[in-house]
Amino acid sequence: MTYQTVNPYTEQVVKTYPGHTDQQAFDALARADAAFRSPTWGQGPLENRTRVLSKIADLFEMRAEELAHAATIDMGKRLEDAKDEVKLCGGIARYYADNAHEFLKPTPYKTSMGDAWVENAPIGTLVAVEPWNFPFYQLIRVVGPAFAIGNSVLIKHAEGVPQCAELFESLVRDAGAPDGACVNLFITPDQVEALIGDDRVQGVALTGSERAGTAVAATAAKQLKKSTMELGGMDVFAVLDDADLARAIEIGTVARLSNAGQVCTAAKRFVVHESVAESFVEGLKAEFAKVRMGDPLDKDTTFQPMSSRRALETIEEQVKDAVKHGAKVLVGGKRADHQGFFYEPTILTGIDRDNPAFRTEFFGPVAQVYVVRNDDELVVLANDSRYGLGGSIFSKDEKRARALASRIETGMVFINQWTSTAPELPFGGVKRSGYGRELGDLGIMEFVNRKLVVVA
Ligand code: NDP
Repeated sequence: MTYQTVNPYTEQVVKTYPGHTDQQAFDALARADAAFRSPTWGQGPLENRTRVLSKIADLFEMRAEELAHAATIDMGKRLEDAKDEVKLCGGIARYYADNAHEFLKPTPYKTSMGDAWVENAPIGTLVAVEPWNFPFYQLIRVVGPAFAIGNSVLIKHAEGVPQCAELFESLVRDAGAPDGACVNLFITPDQVEALIGDDRVQGVALTGSERAGTAVAATAAKQLKKSTMELGGMDVFAVLDDADLARAIEIGTVARLSNAGQVCTAAKRFVVHESVAESFVEGLKAEFAKVRMGDPLDKDTTFQPMSSRRALETIEEQVKDAVKHGAKVLVGGKRADHQGFFYEPTILTGIDRDNPAFRTEFFGPVAQVYVVRNDDELVVLANDSRYGLGGSIFSKDEKRARALASRIETGMVFINQWTSTAPELPFGGVKRSGYGRELGDLGIMEFVNRKLVVVA
């Protein structure tokens, strides 16, 4: 297990970080528990915590350059995209600072037993296991609501983004969070399991692969700890016969290629009505051909490398396997002849239902295209997946698109937009994409003791 920054553009090791010992991990848990029990923090007035959340928002703005630069070096995100991510993080912290009071206010209940209400109390320390693809956003999604309610958080970030992990921890500390309220740990899966087994941990949040989710959810369940799981997706990007094709092509390109395709809600399956299929695919090909690979620190670069050599090798193997099972490569289909972990923007067609690619999440810049004859076929194809995260429908007929949205088995559907995120919108999926919601009003209520109080 190595926490290490390997710059995906230069392919050079930048820095290696020593792991934390069991002693250090459990010391951190003791400090987290103390913060949760503190009369001035976890058990204290909400204003103490919203003040810190506002300061976190300020610091995301003030440190945007430094934070974004770290994301670029850790996992190859284009600097401009990394700045957008940092801005969004500030927005999330600000959103909970401004709205927590309203979300967390007690709910009165009518009863013959006297005065009754449900108040919202923290539950303890959370363990957050997080991925590298949005190295700050994934953390604030958990820490923002946790701070609002008064829970502490132990973060186990992905091995490839240790600079981001440390910068996030110090930002939160500099914003005035007490010692232990949010601690970054460079630990192994075994250490994560041991922490979850401790009584002081009362919740587990994970974003990542189905494999990691299955392992960590099982540990949480065995210990009777509540968990939320935000896992992979095979999101459909549906283009109906009456879609604004230019817009669908433009947004479809971003929806598949941004972050080098390493987004859980990326457009993984383009499902296109046959009457517009040829024009749509030609347009997508033209857009894919326009990308400019280069140093993600450079403003002129429009397409970033994969986050790691392993991510590059995985996508390479997946495409080879898809082709072996009959898929056709329209463009791309191989590593780019370029310094860095680049994979060429790729479009695959001819994927049958028995091709493993039909059921496998491609976490890279590889679009699968399917052609359907009508809306019913589209719905059948969209729902023929073990995943159920997001999805998009492009149509000028809003009524028709809304009706289709109701029939798609996912946690989110966006009409005439790709499945995106905002502080106020609850995010999450169904089926093998996981359970629970992050962000918005629903996100703050996941790790809350809704405590009934009755005064006779
Ligand atoms: P992982 O799921 O392996 O990584 C996510 C996080 O989980 C990391 O912090 C990882 O730690 C940790 N983790 C993995 N296994 C365990 C375990 N048994 N116990 C505790 N923690 C664990 O994702 P990868 O980086 O391997 O990416 C592979 C695939 O995951 C992608 O191809 C994509 O399908 C999916 N993915 C989905 C994301 C999403 O946003 N939904 C984000 C990232 C990946 P470590 O880094 O130390 O292994």
